[in-house]
Amino acid sequence: MEEVVRYNFRLRPGVIAERALTAEWHRCRFLWNEAVHQQRTCRKPTFGKLSKLLTEARSRSVWLRDGSQVAQQQTLRTYASALDHSFTVKGRGRPAVKTRKNSRPSLEYTVRGFTLKDGKLVLPKGVSIPVVWSRELPSDPTSVRVTQDSLGHWYASFVVRRTVEAALSVDGSIGIDWGVTATATTTDPIFDLPYLGHRKRCAAELAKAQRKMARRHSGKRGPQSTGYARAARDAARLQKKAARQNSHDARVWAKAVVENHDLIAVEDFSPKFLSKSTMARKAADAAIGSAKRELIERGERAGRTVVMVRPAYTTMTCSSCFARAKQRLGLGERSFLCNDCGHADSRDRNAARVILVVAERGHTCVDDVRRSQPSFGLVAGAI
Ligand SMILES: [Zn+2]
Repeated sequence: MEEVVRYNFRLRPGVIAERALTAEWHRCRFLWNEAVHQQRTCRKPTFGKLSKLLTEARSRSVWLRDGSQVAQQQTLRTYASALDHSFTVKGRGRPAVKTRKNSRPSLEYTVRGFTLKDGKLVLPKGVSIPVVWSRELPSDPTSVRVTQDSLGHWYASFVVRRTVEAALSVDGSIGIDWGVTATATTTDPIFDLPYLGHRKRCAAELAKAQRKMARRHSGKRGPQSTGYARAARDAARLQKKAARQNSHDARVWAKAVVENHDLIAVEDFSPKFLSKSTMARKAADAAIGSAKRELIERGERAGRTVVMVRPAYTTMTCSSCFARAKQRLGLGERSFLCNDCGHADSRDRNAARVILVVAERGHTCVDDVRRSQPSFGLVAGAI
């Protein structure tokens, strides 16, 4: 079997190539914004119509002709699908104008818009960029996306096909509860993911950089100061570093979990709950977010059964007799004691077990289990 995946590599463009990429981005940004303005006259401009407009515009403007047609067409294609998406997915806003400040360069080339030659990525108009080949491509790429991040680094993301190695079949099952003190508590302590506090550790430094930014001219009134740009870069670098460490830990952990379990029951936690509070909480959220994403993606790719369980009542229910406590446990209460059967456990471990039980019985919510299996809840009479 084959799958389509992205392989990402760092690019090291020279001064001239970087200037060309930035110019290309501004042309594509201009076209995107033109397309957004089209929305006002025509409610839903299609790609076909936009493409026609592009041909006309290119025949009139030397500036547009200087850029790659493939990249420009891809920009409009992306726009058209984003617009389509905004009509079909509820709560999704219409594509907005990309300004110089609120957007970062992103260029897309299909197979007729780029080649790989002598280890370099060659784009139209003779732009050639060295690639840091940190690993080998499994097949010839069908498209590439060139982006620049908040630190000014450039990356290439190639779309390639690769053969899937079937994951070894195992029959273990695991329940996962997310938290602040430990990012993931599971039914099996070996697979717990402790919170390593990457962002917490650099929180003081980050706060310092952010204070510096606050003291300097951000560019809202008058020109932006060099000091502001420097402080903003420091802050971005710290955030990036923590994010990389988080995603590394998440990968290693998710790989181990997926390799050893066939049924993976995950608390469907949305990190928004906590992120209103302190910086440390936000950091914990970020760790949970990347661990959850990585686990779901890897689990599904390996063909495991990944069940999302709603978090309601998971901490109030006993994993042994499934009776529900009358009162919610306070956040400070770290242990669980069942009033019905006397089962005692750590709060998070108990929640992880409840999550697993729910998934094993083919449900996604504690209440569903109680309803379908009345013997569980009626003892407690708490429904
Ligand atoms: Zn109990």
